Amino acid sequence: MTQTLTIALSKGRILKDTLPLLEYAGIVPIDDPDTSRKLILDTNQNDVKLLVIRAADVPTYVEYGAAQVGVAGKDVLMEHEGTGLYEPVDLKIATCRIMVAAQEGKSLSAQRIKVATKYVKTARSHFATKGQQAEIIKLYGSMELAPIAGLADCIVDLVDTGSTLKANGLAPVEHIADISSRLVVNKASMKLQSARIKEFIRQIENAVAA
Ligand code: AMP
Repeated sequence: MTQTLTIALSKGRILKDTLPLLEYAGIVPIDDPDTSRKLILDTNQNDVKLLVIRAADVPTYVEYGAAQVGVAGKDVLMEHEGTGLYEPVDLKIATCRIMVAAQEGKSLSAQRIKVATKYVKTARSHFATKGQQAEIIKLYGSMELAPIAGLADCIVDLVDTGSTLKANGLAPVEHIADISSRLVVNKASMKLQSARIKEFIRQIENAVAA
Protein backbone atom coordinates (compact mmCIF):
# COMPACT_ATOMS: atom_id res chain seq x y z
CA MET A 1 0.00 0.00 0.00
CA THR A 2 1.39 3.42 -0.91
CA GLN A 3 1.32 6.13 1.74
CA THR A 4 -0.46 9.39 0.98
CA LEU A 5 1.73 12.29 -0.09
CA THR A 6 0.32 15.46 1.47
CA ILE A 7 1.53 18.78 0.02
CA ALA A 8 1.00 21.99 2.03
CA LEU A 9 0.48 25.21 0.05
CA SER A 10 -0.89 28.68 0.64
CA LYS A 11 -3.55 30.49 -1.39
CA GLY A 12 -2.61 33.36 -3.70
CA ARG A 13 0.67 33.76 -5.55
CA ILE A 14 2.25 30.54 -4.27
CA LEU A 15 -0.71 28.32 -5.16
CA LYS A 16 -1.09 29.95 -8.58
CA ASP A 17 2.60 29.52 -9.42
CA THR A 18 2.94 26.03 -7.88
CA LEU A 19 0.03 24.41 -9.80
CA PRO A 20 1.91 24.39 -13.14
CA LEU A 21 4.92 22.74 -11.44
CA LEU A 22 2.67 20.08 -9.90
CA GLU A 23 0.96 19.54 -13.24
CA TYR A 24 4.37 18.94 -14.81
CA ALA A 25 4.85 16.26 -12.12
CA GLY A 26 1.47 14.76 -13.11
CA ILE A 27 -0.51 16.13 -10.13
CA VAL A 28 -3.70 18.09 -10.87
CA PRO A 29 -6.29 19.09 -8.23
CA ILE A 30 -9.82 17.79 -8.86
CA ASP A 31 -11.54 20.73 -7.14
CA ASP A 32 -10.85 24.25 -8.41
CA PRO A 33 -8.44 25.67 -5.78
CA ASP A 34 -9.59 29.23 -6.54
CA THR A 35 -13.26 28.63 -5.80
CA SER A 36 -13.33 25.59 -3.52
CA ARG A 37 -13.80 26.20 0.19
CA LYS A 38 -12.25 22.84 1.00
CA LEU A 39 -8.98 22.98 2.92
CA ILE A 40 -7.91 19.53 1.71
CA LEU A 41 -8.07 19.14 -2.05
CA ASP A 42 -8.16 15.76 -3.78
CA THR A 43 -6.03 15.37 -6.88
CA ASN A 44 -6.09 13.14 -9.96
CA GLN A 45 -3.75 10.83 -7.98
CA ASN A 46 -5.62 8.98 -5.21
CA ASP A 47 -2.64 9.09 -2.88
CA VAL A 48 -1.76 12.78 -3.31
CA LYS A 49 -3.63 15.52 -1.38
CA LEU A 50 -3.14 19.27 -1.21
CA LEU A 51 -3.58 21.22 2.05
CA VAL A 52 -4.44 24.88 1.51
CA ILE A 53 -3.38 26.85 4.60
CA ARG A 54 -1.98 30.18 5.73
CA ALA A 55 1.50 30.84 4.32
CA ALA A 56 3.06 31.21 7.77
CA ASP A 57 1.62 27.82 8.83
CA VAL A 58 3.19 25.80 5.98
CA PRO A 59 6.58 25.22 7.71
CA THR A 60 4.77 24.10 10.89
CA TYR A 61 2.57 21.52 9.08
CA VAL A 62 5.63 20.14 7.30
CA GLU A 63 7.89 20.19 10.36
CA TYR A 64 5.37 18.14 12.37
CA GLY A 65 4.80 15.76 9.45
CA ALA A 66 1.09 16.59 8.97
CA ALA A 67 2.24 17.29 5.42
CA GLN A 68 5.32 15.53 4.08
CA VAL A 69 6.20 18.38 1.73
CA GLY A 70 5.18 21.99 1.21
CA VAL A 71 5.85 25.20 -0.63
CA ALA A 72 6.83 28.24 1.44
CA GLY A 73 8.31 31.66 0.71
CA LYS A 74 11.89 32.25 1.87
CA ASP A 75 10.49 35.22 3.85
CA VAL A 76 8.31 32.82 5.87
CA LEU A 77 11.15 30.30 6.27
CA MET A 78 13.52 33.01 7.56
CA GLU A 79 10.98 33.75 10.33
CA HIS A 80 10.32 30.07 11.18
CA GLU A 81 12.00 28.84 14.37
CA GLY A 82 11.98 25.08 13.78
CA THR A 83 14.72 22.74 12.60
CA GLY A 84 12.74 19.78 11.21
CA LEU A 85 12.77 20.88 7.57
CA TYR A 86 14.85 20.31 4.48
CA GLU A 87 14.75 22.98 1.80
CA PRO A 88 15.90 21.02 -1.28
CA VAL A 89 14.60 23.09 -4.21
CA ASP A 90 14.42 26.80 -5.02
CA LEU A 91 11.23 26.88 -7.11
CA LYS A 92 12.08 30.36 -8.45
CA ILE A 93 8.41 31.42 -8.16
CA ALA A 94 6.72 34.29 -6.26
CA THR A 95 10.01 36.17 -6.44
CA CYS A 96 10.44 39.53 -4.71
CA ARG A 97 12.84 41.22 -2.29
CA ILE A 98 12.64 41.89 1.43
CA MET A 99 13.67 45.50 1.99
CA VAL A 100 13.84 48.37 4.44
CA ALA A 101 11.66 51.24 3.23
CA ALA A 102 11.01 54.75 4.56
CA GLN A 103 9.36 58.02 3.55
CA GLU A 104 11.15 59.75 0.65
CA GLY A 105 14.04 61.81 2.04
CA LYS A 106 13.76 60.43 5.59
CA SER A 107 17.11 59.92 7.32
CA LEU A 108 17.56 56.65 9.17
CA SER A 109 20.84 57.64 10.81
CA ALA A 110 19.40 58.25 14.31
CA GLN A 111 21.02 56.40 17.23
CA ARG A 112 17.93 54.26 17.64
CA ILE A 113 15.17 53.83 15.07
CA LYS A 114 11.70 52.32 15.19
CA VAL A 115 11.02 49.60 12.63
CA ALA A 116 7.51 48.28 11.94
CA THR A 117 7.28 44.82 10.38
CA LYS A 118 5.68 41.41 10.19
CA TYR A 119 9.24 40.02 9.78
CA VAL A 120 10.54 40.50 13.30
CA LYS A 121 13.37 37.96 13.25
CA THR A 122 14.66 39.10 9.84
CA ALA A 123 14.49 42.78 10.80
CA ARG A 124 16.22 42.18 14.15
CA SER A 125 19.03 40.25 12.53
CA HIS A 126 19.46 42.83 9.72
CA PHE A 127 19.87 45.79 12.09
CA ALA A 128 22.03 43.77 14.52
CA THR A 129 24.38 42.87 11.64
CA LYS A 130 24.62 46.57 10.73
CA GLY A 131 25.24 47.45 14.37
CA GLN A 132 22.28 49.83 14.40
CA GLN A 133 19.96 49.95 17.41
CA ALA A 134 16.41 49.24 16.32
CA GLU A 135 13.16 48.90 18.21
CA ILE A 136 11.14 46.32 16.28
CA ILE A 137 7.36 46.85 16.32
CA LYS A 138 5.39 43.77 15.26
CA LEU A 139 2.53 44.33 12.81
CA TYR A 140 0.32 41.81 11.01
CA GLY A 141 -0.29 43.77 7.78
CA SER A 142 -0.41 47.11 5.94
CA MET A 143 3.12 47.93 7.08
CA GLU A 144 3.24 50.89 4.64
CA LEU A 145 0.91 52.81 6.93
CA ALA A 146 3.29 52.78 9.91
CA PRO A 147 5.73 55.55 8.80
CA ILE A 148 2.88 57.74 7.50
CA ALA A 149 0.90 57.42 10.74
CA GLY A 150 4.03 58.13 12.82
CA LEU A 151 4.24 54.66 14.35
CA ALA A 152 7.73 53.91 13.01
CA ASP A 153 10.70 55.46 11.14
CA CYS A 154 10.79 52.69 8.56
CA ILE A 155 9.38 49.30 7.65
CA VAL A 156 10.74 45.92 6.62
CA ASP A 157 8.47 44.41 3.98
CA LEU A 158 8.30 42.48 0.71
CA VAL A 159 8.73 44.57 -2.43
CA ASP A 160 7.97 43.36 -5.93
CA THR A 161 7.36 46.20 -8.40
CA GLY A 162 7.68 48.92 -5.74
CA SER A 163 4.29 50.38 -6.63
CA THR A 164 2.75 49.77 -3.18
CA LEU A 165 5.62 51.69 -1.55
CA LYS A 166 5.35 54.49 -4.12
CA ALA A 167 1.58 54.82 -3.72
CA ASN A 168 2.18 55.45 0.00
CA GLY A 169 5.03 57.95 -0.39
CA LEU A 170 7.70 55.40 0.60
CA ALA A 171 10.91 54.39 -1.11
CA PRO A 172 13.21 51.37 -0.72
CA VAL A 173 16.28 52.16 1.39
CA GLU A 174 18.13 48.86 1.94
CA HIS A 175 17.97 45.46 0.31
CA ILE A 176 17.92 42.65 2.89
CA ALA A 177 17.45 39.50 0.78
CA ASP A 178 16.08 38.12 -2.47
CA ILE A 179 12.98 36.01 -1.88
CA SER A 180 11.47 33.10 -3.78
CA SER A 181 9.40 30.07 -2.83
CA ARG A 182 11.10 26.86 -1.76
CA LEU A 183 10.07 23.22 -1.68
CA VAL A 184 10.30 22.09 1.95
CA VAL A 185 10.37 18.49 3.12
CA ASN A 186 9.79 16.89 6.51
CA LYS A 187 13.10 15.40 7.69
CA ALA A 188 11.62 12.11 8.95
CA SER A 189 9.55 11.61 5.76
CA MET A 190 12.70 12.04 3.71
CA LYS A 191 14.02 8.89 5.44
CA LEU A 192 10.77 6.90 5.79
CA GLN A 193 9.35 7.64 2.33
CA SER A 194 12.73 8.17 0.78
CA ALA A 195 12.06 6.72 -2.72
CA ARG A 196 8.69 8.44 -3.12
CA ILE A 197 9.86 11.83 -1.92
CA LYS A 198 13.12 11.74 -3.85
CA GLU A 199 11.13 10.95 -7.01
CA PHE A 200 8.76 13.87 -6.25
CA ILE A 201 11.74 16.22 -5.70
CA ARG A 202 13.29 15.05 -8.98
CA GLN A 203 10.03 15.75 -10.86
CA ILE A 204 9.72 19.20 -9.33
CA GLU A 205 13.38 19.98 -10.15
CA ASN A 206 12.65 19.01 -13.77
CA ALA A 207 9.55 21.20 -13.77
CA VAL A 208 11.57 24.19 -12.51
CA ALA A 209 14.28 23.57 -15.12
CA ALA A 210 11.62 23.36 -17.85
P1 AMP B 1 4.60 45.66 -5.14
O1 AMP B 1 3.62 46.81 -5.02
O2 AMP B 1 4.55 45.00 -6.49
O3 AMP B 1 6.01 46.08 -4.75
O4 AMP B 1 4.14 44.50 -4.14
C1 AMP B 1 4.24 44.75 -2.78
C2 AMP B 1 3.10 44.15 -2.03
O5 AMP B 1 2.84 42.82 -2.44
C3 AMP B 1 3.43 44.12 -0.56
O6 AMP B 1 2.27 44.35 0.19
C4 AMP B 1 3.96 42.72 -0.36
O7 AMP B 1 3.68 42.28 0.95
C5 AMP B 1 3.24 41.91 -1.43
N1 AMP B 1 4.15 40.95 -2.09
C6 AMP B 1 5.01 41.22 -3.07
N2 AMP B 1 5.66 40.12 -3.48
C7 AMP B 1 5.19 39.11 -2.73
C8 AMP B 1 5.46 37.71 -2.67
N3 AMP B 1 6.36 37.12 -3.45
N4 AMP B 1 4.80 36.98 -1.76
C9 AMP B 1 3.89 37.56 -0.96
N5 AMP B 1 3.59 38.88 -0.96
C10 AMP B 1 4.22 39.64 -1.84
